[in-house]
Amino acid sequence: MELTQNKGLFFEEDARVSVLTTEPLDRFLDYRAPQGGVEIGAYVEVPLGPRKVLGVVWGPGDGDFDLAKLRRIARVADIAPMRSEMRAFLEKVSAYTMTSLHSMLRMATRVPGLIDPPSARLVYSKGAGLPDKLTPARQKVMAVLDDYPVSFFGLSELAQLAGVSTSVVKGLLKQGVVVEQEAPRDQPYTTLDPSKPPKELTEDQRTAAQSLSDIVKQGEYNTTLLKGVTGSGKTEVYLEAIAECLRQDRQALVLIPEIALTVEFLERLTKRFGGRPAEWHSAVTQAERRRCWHMVGQGGAQVVVGARSALYLPFKNLGLIVVDEEHDASYKQEDGALYSARDMAVMRATIENASVILASATPALETWVNAKTGKYGRVDLSERYGAAVLPEIKTIDMREEQLDRQSWISLTLADLVQDRLTKKEQSLLFLNRRGYAPITQCRVCGHQLGCYQCDARMVEHRFRAELMCHQCGHSEPLPKACPECGIEDRMAPIGPGVERLAEEAVAKFPDARISILSSDMSLSAVALKAKIAELASGAADIIIGTQLVAKGHNFPLLTLVGVIDADLGLQGADLRAAERTFQLMRQVAGRAGRADKKGEAYLQSFQPQHPVMEAILSGDEETFWDAEAQQRQANGTPPFGRLAGIVLNGPDHSLLMQTARQLQQKAEPLYQVGAELFGPADAPIARVRGRYRVRFLVKAEKTAPLQRALAAWVSQIKLPNAVRLSIDIDPQSFY
Ligand code: ADP
Ligand code: ZN
Repeated sequence: MELTQNKGLFFEEDARVSVLTTEPLDRFLDYRAPQGGVEIGAYVEVPLGPRKVLGVVWGPGDGDFDLAKLRRIARVADIAPMRSEMRAFLEKVSAYTMTSLHSMLRMATRVPGLIDPPSARLVYSKGAGLPDKLTPARQKVMAVLDDYPVSFFGLSELAQLAGVSTSVVKGLLKQGVVVEQEAPRDQPYTTLDPSKPPKELTEDQRTAAQSLSDIVKQGEYNTTLLKGVTGSGKTEVYLEAIAECLRQDRQALVLIPEIALTVEFLERLTKRFGGRPAEWHSAVTQAERRRCWHMVGQGGAQVVVGARSALYLPFKNLGLIVVDEEHDASYKQEDGALYSARDMAVMRATIENASVILASATPALETWVNAKTGKYGRVDLSERYGAAVLPEIKTIDMREEQLDRQSWISLTLADLVQDRLTKKEQSLLFLNRRGYAPITQCRVCGHQLGCYQCDARMVEHRFRAELMCHQCGHSEPLPKACPECGIEDRMAPIGPGVERLAEEAVAKFPDARISILSSDMSLSAVALKAKIAELASGAADIIIGTQLVAKGHNFPLLTLVGVIDADLGLQGADLRAAERTFQLMRQVAGRAGRADKKGEAYLQSFQPQHPVMEAILSGDEETFWDAEAQQRQANGTPPFGRLAGIVLNGPDHSLLMQTARQLQQKAEPLYQVGAELFGPADAPIARVRGRYRVRFLVKAEKTAPLQRALAAWVSQIKLPNAVRLSIDIDPQSFY
């Protein structure tokens, strides 16, 4: 597949055109242009066998198939053709990540009824009538209608915004206070107004905001790291860059790592710009997805807040991409197309002449190095906003603590919590482990319960009264008898998860109000936000949380953070173990002392002298990054060298190994570009969903044509049907 960037090319009726479909075929298909001709980039429906499939006209056809026998494009959608920049972007991501172009197209068109003609729906707006009785619920609805004089709300949308049931709206409808109309389904979003006054920025913030706005104003590609401790006002600052982007009449995309954060974030944007931005993530309704996709393409959406897949929306004029918490591991998509949304954001921006802002308190080492070498710009916010100061971080040396059996809260930490309880301040106990206990073991024979189809232990979730595999999601009830020795009632939990930690906290602090905040509570984004707001306003004395609490939530009453197992992330041989632990610990600690009370963070550790622990305590980040960077440079690992992870999987282990050995023996194309091949070896998680996994790691110099060499390498052998191969460029995980 070759790069095609013909702009605005038009094909007359019956001309031969090349169409990229979303079907898993590794080639373009030729068709005849329909009556009236077709433009390059047009979204079309084409016949394929007995079916009709979605495609995009990618260029002139080049096949030698008899034109007379060639089938015609069945339908041309009445939407703007895909821009050449977008086509170039999909081609580049495809080439970089070694993902087929049709999969890329599928990601870029993942919308129901994409090319269906627009349909109508019922919308509700303000009528002339007056209510017979003004209840608080009715008042809420009317307040929303006043805020949005031209509203395009559906029934449930309006009810939800007002926080009332739909029957309240229906009641008002009967009295003519609300009127119902038919309107085209996909309406533009409310206009955002950059001239509304921002919060009054501190001098530090103002300087940062000015630099970023200046960059956006230039309208050329640029990437800047916006580094600032949690609570320094990074968001306030990049909102001003978004304002500048809007003033330039260009669109902005804000990527955030956690759907749970969108609600709060959208509210902030709505306040700043007087209108609600578009939203794009897995929890958005199908109708809203469709609207977002179309409006982004037509320019009817000025700002999109979304998850990583929002990168593949057909922006009409993208001027700025903000990647918030840019170091977050969730930006790497780990199944299907393996790509880093952060890196692809930069790629898209180069094509669109857009700016990128990478915001973080603890940037990824790659980003830090890129800023250091001048490839990216860097803007720093050094202080927390207002009276808030960064918490002091200390360790608790667990080698010297007397712990009761089945206990994880040290006496030192317990005293600190008790002190906060007396002072009516909040504490957070952090443990990055979901569920009740990571291991369930038979006390008689020692057997540990594992997943039947994965190389993973079953994790007890006592809340839900079940065991769950965190690899595949399989769950089952806790067995009464050991499946190995058959003896009953002797299965015992080993080690703590947050649920078990909460149990200990309840026993230790019987009068405290204790609440768990964990990502497996399966709350909706709105419910989760409500829960967080409740906790933040003081509904609990002790919050027990997993990673979820580390991501950008504000807890103003919190003055103590206790990390139960600070060493947890240091185990395992992951390239990024040190970096991740550093980031996570700093971020968790950053939850404390956000308002006027100074916070403290205590890390329980069995290795307080570990260099990573010392770096976390000293707070000397630049020294830590420098040391990390030096080590990576010495090892030739990213960002100084390049890695690719290759995983073969299949149900038959010996066939898998046999295939892997064949590949190993044909590594010449890799050696030719100076790359090294490690493996094959059983992956650390050697079986998932009944399929065995065998890994290779390829390491190359930064400038080596890695993708080309990999393609040449793997194309030499034909994989057995049952074996699948995936290539992960710049892998983030090595399991
Ligand atoms: P970060 O993104 O760096 O964590 P935020 O932008 O979320 O920081 O700011 C932290 C808190 O401080 C937020 O509640 C924010 O509204 C508030 N804040 C920051 N700067 C200002 C300011 N200049 N005026 C008023 N409030 C501010
Ligand atoms: Zn499993």
